[in-house]
Amino acid sequence: MKVALLGCGNVGTEVVRLLHAQRDDLAARVGEPLELAGVAVRRVDKDRGDLPVDASLFTTDARELITRDDVDIVVELVGGIEPARTWITTAIGRGKSIVTGNKALLAEDGASLYRAASAANVDLYYEASVAAAIPLLRPLRESLHGDRIVRVMGIVNGTTNFILSRMTETGAGFAEALEEASDLGYAEADPTADVEGYDAAAKAAILAGLAFHTRVTASDVYREGITEVTASDVASAVHMDCVIKLLCIATRDGADVSARVHPAMIPRTHPLASVNGAYNAVFIEAEAAGQLMFYGAGAGGAPTASAVLGDLVAVARSRRSGASAAAESAYADLRVRPMSEVVTRYHVSLDVDDEPGVLAEVASVFAEHGVSMRTVRQTGRGDEAALVAVTHTATDAQLSATVDELGKLPAVRQVASVMRVEGE
Ligand code: NAP
Repeated sequence: MKVALLGCGNVGTEVVRLLHAQRDDLAARVGEPLELAGVAVRRVDKDRGDLPVDASLFTTDARELITRDDVDIVVELVGGIEPARTWITTAIGRGKSIVTGNKALLAEDGASLYRAASAANVDLYYEASVAAAIPLLRPLRESLHGDRIVRVMGIVNGTTNFILSRMTETGAGFAEALEEASDLGYAEADPTADVEGYDAAAKAAILAGLAFHTRVTASDVYREGITEVTASDVASAVHMDCVIKLLCIATRDGADVSARVHPAMIPRTHPLASVNGAYNAVFIEAEAAGQLMFYGAGAGGAPTASAVLGDLVAVARSRRSGASAAAESAYADLRVRPMSEVVTRYHVSLDVDDEPGVLAEVASVFAEHGVSMRTVRQTGRGDEAALVAVTHTATDAQLSATVDELGKLPAVRQVASVMRVEGE
């Protein structure tokens, strides 16, 4: 079985190592050896250390490699939308099965890839695209196929989880914790995709689509990153016996689905609260199965390569048997609920004048918008006071209108922070 590898970076390198180190076991599991036909990279002359692969296999001509008649499976580990999309669709058109870790592409245009794979009767596997080593997509796509999933909630970005964990542990601000993450190799030189939530939003789209048998793209996902989370938000969370996490939440509600990524406070007793550092975890609630939690390394060359190899074995076996995996399951065709209609609870922190009657004024703004307050805490600081309200559930639209009006009250000096509260 001949495998063309596109990309030999963090993940591709580890795929090459595993293919070499485990070749006998892999051959036994597949029923024949998995052999590298070629490795497409940007720079053939780059020093790749002691990688166990013949130098003559490297090429910059990915197109030539994937269109070769002797290639059976294409493993795409280049990333990004183009040229990855063109290469994958070309390979599918030539009857090759695909393994990829490309979350950006799957979240933007998974539907057309699925369509092409189905028309060509080949497999398209992408376990590595969400939470790396953690088996998550196969359980959603296969093991839980007989159940009705109602909610998927998880921590799917290691960089932001590391930063928020450090802010909680040390009291540091965002910038300081980001610098530490960069120094330790947990954040990329340009951390935008992680800290602004784009990476998690792509994963949320993939998870929501698979969990609810519908089509969700990255642009359907409401997204807020963690750059605005302050040390005082973290301290407020601690005061409520909560921690702040960047959550990916996908929910099915009747004929609607919602998918969102944003920082939120969760109680310390929630299983996701103890997921710290660069780890990922996803909590799935299904009607019959109940609550399930998947936990492990959500990034890194070797853990991601483990998921790629798992897919590779599955794809190779189904090619040998002439079978192919299930095509996209989007029959439910659910409406994507806009964020304004999504219901949750909120933690609202205000800096107000420390005068009689302010609390009553603030409470009446909440009441006018139908947002019920669950707890209120006021702490005096000279002529100013910090007023923190935690609400019962309300829609995002109700809360936004409340916050807009609170900001206009003369006694409110500033709305210091608004954060959603989840997991209760
Ligand atoms: P990476 O280290 O940046 O490696 C990218 C590879 O693609 C390099 O070998 C590069 O060649 C090659 N490449 C880039 N542009 C190319 C072009 N135009 N033509 C030919 N080759 C090209 O990326 P990575 O971290 O391994 O990630 C690969 C994929 O896995 C991405 O889709 C990523 O989202 C996904 N993923 C990664 C992780 C992780 O922890 N790293 C986790 C889950 C999923 P050179 O070597 O010559 O530069």
